[in-house]
Amino acid sequence: MSTAATAARQPERSAVVTGAAGGIGQAVAARLSADGFAVTLLDLERSAPALAGVERRLQEASGAAVRSDHVDVTDEHSVDRALQAHAEAFGGLDVVVANAGIAVTAPLLETTTEQWDTTMAVNVRGVANCYRSGARIMVDQGRGGRLIGAASVAAHRAGRWQSAYSASKFAVRGLTQAVALELAEHQVTANCYSPGVVQTPMWDTIDAALGERTGAEPGAPMAAMTGQIALGRLQTPGDVAGVVSFLASPDAAYITGQSVVVDGGMWFS
Ligand code: NAD
Repeated sequence: MSTAATAARQPERSAVVTGAAGGIGQAVAARLSADGFAVTLLDLERSAPALAGVERRLQEASGAAVRSDHVDVTDEHSVDRALQAHAEAFGGLDVVVANAGIAVTAPLLETTTEQWDTTMAVNVRGVANCYRSGARIMVDQGRGGRLIGAASVAAHRAGRWQSAYSASKFAVRGLTQAVALELAEHQVTANCYSPGVVQTPMWDTIDAALGERTGAEPGAPMAAMTGQIALGRLQTPGDVAGVVSFLASPDAAYITGQSVVVDGGMWFS
């Protein structure tokens, strides 16, 4: 893990992104870096090699100030340490993207208590830990901030074999609304993004789980989802990163407590 920021230019604002070793988190980090944020990439310790690769690519792409660190979002002390280290390295913290999440694909009748608890620990407690830790820093520094969490289209319309996952993502919306109310007086906004079917390692595991249960060939369950998407194509991590970039931008200053659904037209509010 790197500890020193490569300050090729002096950034005005900085962001942390959890789950940044791959998938959506990697794309979000790359986009915020291109937007001019100094970025800390956070992920589990076991993802250190992948995280180092992302860090190297971002530095090569833009010469941006970027560092990486490990975190387990389920552990409040781990989150506090990582966000404090970011604030010390970059002189503050303006944006938290609580992106890390996991998915269980199983009927309720087969979902174990362990699967349920792990899903809630990562997807709900993990986002709450990041919001709380980030908010403490933002309130202390007194220049507002953005808390941005990963929800899902499954936070608006539950899917089959997604009871634990959907429940956790509905919870992220409730959490985000409450936090938005509480932190508004500090000019800290809280919003979440709700993707549909994004081509990432997470969807590879969902595809495999669906295939095991239905006998479908690898890739077939995901391809079949295309028929449910009005825009007629699966989503890329970049489609999500653009929305997070907007939520972190000055143009989104008057948006708080919202879930922005970015799903190509699977679910309409
Ligand atoms: P992914 O599985 O590709 O990546 C998730 C990352 O989170 C991994 O790098 C993983 O190591 C990290 N992570 C897991 N547990 C962690 C923990 N305890 N502490 C720190 N990091 C941890 O997932 P993705 O598809 O990129 O999804 C990112 C977010 O977007 C998730 O919250 C997910 O629920 C949400 N989402 C994804 C989709 C999709 O179709 N892929 C759709 C809707 C919402």
